[in-house]
Amino acid sequence: EFALRGRRVFVAGHRGMVGSACVRRLEREGCTILTVGRERLDLTRQAAVEAWMEEARPEVVVVAAARVGGILANDTYPAEFLYENLMIEANLIHAAHRVGVAKLLFLGSSCIYPREAPQPIPEEALLAGPLEPTNEWYAVAKIAGIKLCQAYRRQHGRDFIAAMPCNLYGPNDYFHPERSHVIPALLRRFHEAARRGDPEVVCWGTGRPRREFLHVDDLAEACVFLLRRYSDAPHVNVGTGTDISIAELAALVARVTGFRGRIAWDTSKPDGTPLKRMDIARITAMGWAPRIPFAEGLAETYRWFVEQERVRA
Ligand code: GDP
Repeated sequence: EFALRGRRVFVAGHRGMVGSACVRRLEREGCTILTVGRERLDLTRQAAVEAWMEEARPEVVVVAAARVGGILANDTYPAEFLYENLMIEANLIHAAHRVGVAKLLFLGSSCIYPREAPQPIPEEALLAGPLEPTNEWYAVAKIAGIKLCQAYRRQHGRDFIAAMPCNLYGPNDYFHPERSHVIPALLRRFHEAARRGDPEVVCWGTGRPRREFLHVDDLAEACVFLLRRYSDAPHVNVGTGTDISIAELAALVARVTGFRGRIAWDTSKPDGTPLKRMDIARITAMGWAPRIPFAEGLAETYRWFVEQERVRA
């Protein structure tokens, strides 16, 4: 087992939903957590990243920094999603190798898998078929990140590992009506509609696609678990193993936010991949399991969002 106690752990992307959850979880491990804001370090600039890493000397790196966004953002800003994610991961992984980092965890996403992958999706489905076009830019960058970890392991013996979470939700998510992922988008839209007493809320697509949602605190637990116990080349799926349809999700969000009107579907917006439930046998066989029931996590995330809105107002 790899001990985290007393180590210098750099969490890249600590202000994001995943990075902030990793910081909260790592605070219980007795390690020294290193972070740097984007105003001090632009992770897309190689020389700056190398200089920062040489000075900070982390022993462990968690790559939670990325340009992320929902289905429409991905489709609208392909250059940003591909370029920024390639640069961030290449700079961090290469610099971690240069300063002799003992352990690195790279975070990707279930969108790396082919659109027509077998369900539930096993890790072996990687690169076995064409990607879903609405997020292929992000996916190609994340696949390159997995391969970088494998390459530095193979050529330089580096203990660099990769975890691929399903769709995530939780505090510090990005609650933008157009650019965010489905859960923050719907929580905001239904909340505002309920407050105004609107008769109808419009959601995107057909409502038929199914998604697997994991609370970010469960992911953070999995990250610490993998840092400690996992040292191998293949990437590891992290999810709940269950999925729900977007229509079911919308009904749940309506209940959580107290919206009693009608739910309509704008089919001019993309559905994305129809199914992407992951096979989580690899990580569950190692002894990790998700803990937060979806209805509970969703209600807690809604309370967090309402509190944020109140503080900002
Ligand atoms: P994806 O898993 O990469 O497709 O990411 P998203 O979280 O952006 O979208 C998941 C699913 O929710 C897709 O089928 C969307 O069409 C659907 N969806 C429904 N309403 C919304 C919305 O308001 N925002 C987003 N982002 N997705 C929505």
